[in-house]
Amino acid sequence: MEKRHELYAGKAKSVFTTDDPDRLILHFRDDTSAFDGERMESLERKGMVNNRFNAFIMGRLDAAGIPTHFEGLRSDDECVVKNMEMLPVECVVRNIAAGSLVKRLGVEEGGELDPPTFELFLKNDAQHDPMINESLAETFGWATPEQLAEMKALTFRVNEVLKKLFADGGLLLVDYKLEFGVFKGQIVLGDEFSPDGCRLWDAETREKLDKDRFRQGLGGVIEAYEEVGKRIGVDFS
Ligand code: UDP
Repeated sequence: MEKRHELYAGKAKSVFTTDDPDRLILHFRDDTSAFDGERMESLERKGMVNNRFNAFIMGRLDAAGIPTHFEGLRSDDECVVKNMEMLPVECVVRNIAAGSLVKRLGVEEGGELDPPTFELFLKNDAQHDPMINESLAETFGWATPEQLAEMKALTFRVNEVLKKLFADGGLLLVDYKLEFGVFKGQIVLGDEFSPDGCRLWDAETREKLDKDRFRQGLGGVIEAYEEVGKRIGVDFS
């Protein structure tokens, strides 16, 4: 597959067109950002680590029957994906209270959420990704009610698969964010799944092993991502 021109550069990934109109190449850069891009840093090996981590997770989700855009690894820091029309909505499931939920509701960090919660956010950095709901998404045309129902069902199915995968590695899947697109009329999981877009704690010590290490200046960011990957069987060699 031939790489053509850069279509879009996000905060941590760049997207390239290919000679196949149905396929794109995702380049995982070493860049990392927090607070809607206000803080940016380059972390050595991050592109490779997240690319391989994401490939492993997408493979597990695909094996569990969840449609994903992932087609295959192309290099250490690139993969090939389906060219989808992305929906500007972020789907968040939480198993344990943390992050914006704690700030918004004043609940204590670390409390179990039973049943797990489901939230929608609009992908819009200028507005700081505001929380939205199904009604707003329908009215403003961000997603149809049918698409929202499908995204919600798939986001919860991902929870069942990944909660167990991480639990087997002695990890708690605290929360995560998914993005979906439409490919040939079907809702398909897009973007990436890596410690950049989820929270993972050691099950025993509750040590944070995800992007909160960067957000909170705890250090050892990539070391933590690799530790988590190794515990679930990701090959970084
Ligand atoms: N998240 C993300 N991108 C965003 C916002 C959130 O990947 O733009 C992830 C985040 O890493 C966490 C989950 O979604 O795993 C829930 O995030 P939260 O709403 O708590 O917001 P945060 O505290 O990360 O701003």
